[in-house]
Amino acid sequence: MPTTTLILGLGDSGLAMARWLARSGEAVRVWDSRAEPPQAAALAEHVPSATVLSAPLDEAALAGIKRVLKSPGLSPTDDRIAALLAAAHAANFPVQGELDLFVEALDALRIRGARTDALTTAAGVRDFVDTLAWVGSRATWAARFAPLQLPGADPGTCAVGRWSHVSREDVGLIASEYRTLVHRRMEVPMPYTPPAREGGLRGCLLCGVGSIVTTESLAADAWGSLERVQTGTIGGANRASSARGHLCPNCRAAVEQVGAPGMSAVERALMNHLGFKVRYGSTVNFTDESVVHGWAALPPGTPANDEPWAHLDLPRITRALQVEYYAEPIAESAR
Ligand SMILES: [Zn+2]
Repeated sequence: MPTTTLILGLGDSGLAMARWLARSGEAVRVWDSRAEPPQAAALAEHVPSATVLSAPLDEAALAGIKRVLKSPGLSPTDDRIAALLAAAHAANFPVQGELDLFVEALDALRIRGARTDALTTAAGVRDFVDTLAWVGSRATWAARFAPLQLPGADPGTCAVGRWSHVSREDVGLIASEYRTLVHRRMEVPMPYTPPAREGGLRGCLLCGVGSIVTTESLAADAWGSLERVQTGTIGGANRASSARGHLCPNCRAAVEQVGAPGMSAVERALMNHLGFKVRYGSTVNFTDESVVHGWAALPPGTPANDEPWAHLDLPRITRALQVEYYAEPIAESAR
């Protein structure tokens, strides 16, 4: 299965896209028409594994490619890339830009699942913002203000007046979006505790973590809505009333995958945290189930964890899972 992305243009945004993809473990091939692209040296430094193409583009450049990302400075009608883009469209390759990567990265930042662990630390979030935020804003500008960037744009129908294709409303909108983006770029990621609610516990109901590192603009929905959990369903003793509180993004993703905040969600969130791949629909049989339980099942008054799942014996569970997975590969192949 192709895993390489072809990036067209090696200026600032081409470089940012290449760095982001390489950081996500993807192979990149970068094309630029210039003999000495402005960011060639930076690419060699930050993404030494990247292949650089400079010859005129032909369909061979698409070999083994899963998608094409175009820098905003290149018009889709540019003679040097138009034929390749047409071939990519004909072959149903996605042709995207850095705004698509930006949106994917924002999604990842909100969910912060096992695949995006680069975004679960303050340094990771800061790197994300440094690498992609300004590029996202730039792409927004390019798409809105350069009509030839739009799909199906026809150079023959250009407006008579300069910028007259941009409405006053759009100018106001983009200016305010840009201000918001600039504001986000200035934000410093910091820990946020769960919202204080009457009777609500102050750690993630499942993993018990007491704070999430995120930015101010993402903090409002980082902890999700108030949830109720029957302690008997997450490995504890049954109580007269359910535990109330919030879920961290990782545990919320696990609950969404399995449908309810019970033992399956506990196991899935824990497996993700420990780096074991869990296929959708598969179940885990812990060697000794009594060692695994959600944090909210602990006695009332138990302080929140500094790190997710710190209330469990993680080395012991990891050893049990390794035995389970290596001794019985059937768990992976039975499906
Ligand atoms: Zn959690």
